[in-house]
Amino acid sequence: MYYDLCNMRTVRELMEKYSVGTKKSFGQNFLINPSVPERIAREAVSRAGSPCGVIEIGPGAGALTQFLAQEFDRVVAVELDRGLIPLLGEVLGEYRNVTVVEGDFLKTDLPAFISDHFSDLIRGGGTVGICANLPYYITSPVIMKIMESFDPAGPMPLAFMTFMVQTEVARRLAAKAGSPDYGAITASIALRADVEKLFDVSPGNFMPPPKVTSSVVMFRPHEGIRKFPGAPGSPDRISEFDGRVRELISLAFGMRRKTLVNALLSKYAREDVTDALEKAGFRPDIRGEKLSAADFCMLASYLSGPEKTDKRPE
Ligand code: SAM
Repeated sequence: MYYDLCNMRTVRELMEKYSVGTKKSFGQNFLINPSVPERIAREAVSRAGSPCGVIEIGPGAGALTQFLAQEFDRVVAVELDRGLIPLLGEVLGEYRNVTVVEGDFLKTDLPAFISDHFSDLIRGGGTVGICANLPYYITSPVIMKIMESFDPAGPMPLAFMTFMVQTEVARRLAAKAGSPDYGAITASIALRADVEKLFDVSPGNFMPPPKVTSSVVMFRPHEGIRKFPGAPGSPDRISEFDGRVRELISLAFGMRRKTLVNALLSKYAREDVTDALEKAGFRPDIRGEKLSAADFCMLASYLSGPEKTDKRPE
């Protein structure tokens, strides 16, 4: 049986049948305009290989899952709200390519999850991505979890991540270095993926409507930090280098009103930073917010920690 899962009445009746209400505490704003999940699923699949798999975070009442099921060979959806699991079992029952897993995405071991659900598909040359209309309160934790789940020495084993987030967050994620929206999260993510804002979605497309406008963003993971200037060639030194770059980003944005030299004083000697900035071709009074991910890598290659001696890019 086919269910129109973007129809408010259908969803309300199903929720009544299973004695569940929408939970604000789980960030539940369900999509009610089918053209939105349809477009999200199409954008997501356009970045996927063949065969293609997708992990959905938070299927809710299945509005997006249904469209993902039509575009992807395999969908594995992780839902935290136990009350929605039997409802999802009913409405997605006809889709043989969908598996619903009850659980907290933030607590999953992502590499093991991918291997458990998609290893045959990947062995067959396929790709896996992640898609979600994200609960706003866990947007950053979800993104950081995904970024940190994989060894920085290699690319992430994900073809794409397509997320609905608050427009304000979308602007931050896709910001260019030096712009007002640019921040630590933008620079850290850029070490692993290119991010693009695709389209805006107004509150009226959700039930209940959120207070703010939302946007869909696309993350395209690239080959990782090793592609940037100054990154060490040998894989066993990448992890230490990645840590150094991330620490620089965190220090720089922790005190974004200060010059980079002053922001880094808690960790580095003034003359070392000045020297590194000069070698990397930056003005001595530059602020961290002007530096792109590539710039932070270049700087890190000249700025080894006190115990390190490898000061130059390779
Ligand atoms: N995908 C549905 C849609 O677009 O209509 C629902 C999206 S709703 C914004 C977010 C969903 O994520 C809810 O169903 C919520 O219960 C679920 N959720 C919240 N926190 C979660 C977590 N940590 N892990 C998995 N699902 C979660």
